[in-house]
Amino acid sequence: MIYIRGHHSDFDDWQALGNPGWSFADVLPFFRKNEMHQSGSSELHGGEGELYVGRAHRHVATEAFVEAAIQAGHSYTSDFNGAQQESIGYYDVTIRDGRRWSTATAFLKPIRHRENLTVLTGAHVERVLLQGKQATGVQALIKGRRLELKAHKEVLLAAGAFGSPHLLMLSGIGPEAELKPLGIAVQHELPGVGQHLQDHPDIVLCYKSRDTSLLDISLGGNMKMGTALIDYLRNKKRPTGKQLCRRRRLPQNNHRLGAPRYPVALGDRHSR
Ligand SMILES: Cc1cc2nc3c(=O)[nH]c(=O)nc-3n(C[C@H](O)[C@H](O)[C@H](O)COP(=O)(O)OP(=O)(O)OC[C@H]3O[C@@H](n4cnc5c(N)ncnc54)[C@H](O)[C@@H]3O)c2cc1C
Repeated sequence: MIYIRGHHSDFDDWQALGNPGWSFADVLPFFRKNEMHQSGSSELHGGEGELYVGRAHRHVATEAFVEAAIQAGHSYTSDFNGAQQESIGYYDVTIRDGRRWSTATAFLKPIRHRENLTVLTGAHVERVLLQGKQATGVQALIKGRRLELKAHKEVLLAAGAFGSPHLLMLSGIGPEAELKPLGIAVQHELPGVGQHLQDHPDIVLCYKSRDTSLLDISLGGNMKMGTALIDYLRNKKRPTGKQLCRRRRLPQNNHRLGAPRYPVALGDRHSR
């Protein structure tokens, strides 16, 4: 729901590590291409893309948080995806008319009925099919039936941070030292697969508040949720949607390249 790109220096770092085409200048046109920013297009934002990006509702508590940070000497940024990424400010969000503008809403629903698109749900991919080192399709378990789906052009793997390397390794793509003891025939020795995963710690500090404008699981809070639902159905405005996006970000610690690593954010319940 928060729309935030990586730090510019992260992309430049990837390129410097030997990945041509991954610098921030290289990826920016793609960010701009798929973005439909509420404020229209600009040097760093797109206005014509599929993914709606808007500005979050501002609650009095978060405004106070931002104000306090500014008073404490932190600089303010009006756009975390702009030129100045480290500061106090308000997140952009992928919420439109009080509802999450998910990637499925943005990219899949508009083309759902194309004749050359088939979406299979309830499908569990078991491995990537290979001819030599060339991916030619996938083997999947679909509603109890094991099927081989052949690719005309290419196979794109998007099974998540754990799922993608897992599938590659099940397909014999990965470090030989790990695959062999598990009885997996090595098709392509690639030592980096399944390695270098990094934790993303999320430390949440919770505070009690008597502020009745915040949402809460209590008798009063539940009644407010009911009112909020009616308000949403009538006006497409929803405090529940707004609550999740009231977060801010402070100047952050630096790692070896000087890029921010530990954003500090303020949210209401943070989905908990
Ligand atoms: C609590 C939380 C809050 C977050 N908040 C934000 C936020 O506000 N803004 C933001 O930008 N990002 C946020 N993120 C991060 C964001 O959710 C991920 O970066 C993003 O979902 C990654 O997308 P993906 O498509 O690469 O992988 P995923 O979203 O993980 O999708 C992978 C899909 O592949 C499926 N899959 C895996 N293995 C197989 C298989 N063998 N066969 C078939 N299907 C398979 C999985 O079921 C899953 O549906 C948050 C993450 C968490 C955990």
